[in-house]
Amino acid sequence: MRIVLASNNPGKAREFAAALAELNVDIMPQSLFGVPEVEETGLTFIENALLKARNAALHTGWPALADDSGLVVDALDGRPGIHSARYAGPDADDHANIAKLLVELRGVPAERRTARFVCVLALLRHPADPTPLICQASWEGVTVTEPRGANGFGYDPVFFVPGEQQTAAELDLATKNRLSHRGQALAHLRRQMQDEPAW
Ligand code: IMP
Repeated sequence: MRIVLASNNPGKAREFAAALAELNVDIMPQSLFGVPEVEETGLTFIENALLKARNAALHTGWPALADDSGLVVDALDGRPGIHSARYAGPDADDHANIAKLLVELRGVPAERRTARFVCVLALLRHPADPTPLICQASWEGVTVTEPRGANGFGYDPVFFVPGEQQTAAELDLATKNRLSHRGQALAHLRRQMQDEPAW
């Protein structure tokens, strides 16, 4: 069974294909089909994941899988949240996004620096599928005041993982994939798909 991945990121396509390798599915990035980007107008990770998956299913005719993820910081009422990728502006890079976050968190004491990475996966069998598979998972941590570590991407250098006593950017990739919001959401999805003979 072919599944189109509603992402143009080759790293994600590899991670998803590896996580779902036990299933008889072929994960194809949407770029292979020339799928146009859809505007992410939702107010939640779930809505945006569904918008992306429906767009990919509509333009390809294949079942489609999308993910939406971001960092949710308690002291900031959940920001950057669904705006994580472009928190510091439309062309913001990781460095600018982290800088903005650290400014907003200036003066917030350690015990109020709790945060979590959240990932939602949405799998639609077809564009009008009324019962999509939805998996939401999170990874709990604390934001630190100084970036640390050179691995990963995004907010990893300022996301401290208490159980490992390291930031996400100091973890090796295998450890991050095992613990992370995306790794957990993919494990849920694999279990749900295994329970469904259609896949
Ligand atoms: P996307 O919509 O899933 O591509 O990601 C949204 C944004 O959330 C990314 O651009 C990152 O800024 C942030 N993000 C999501 N997952 C991670 C992660 O595992 N580490 C660091 N940042 C992340």
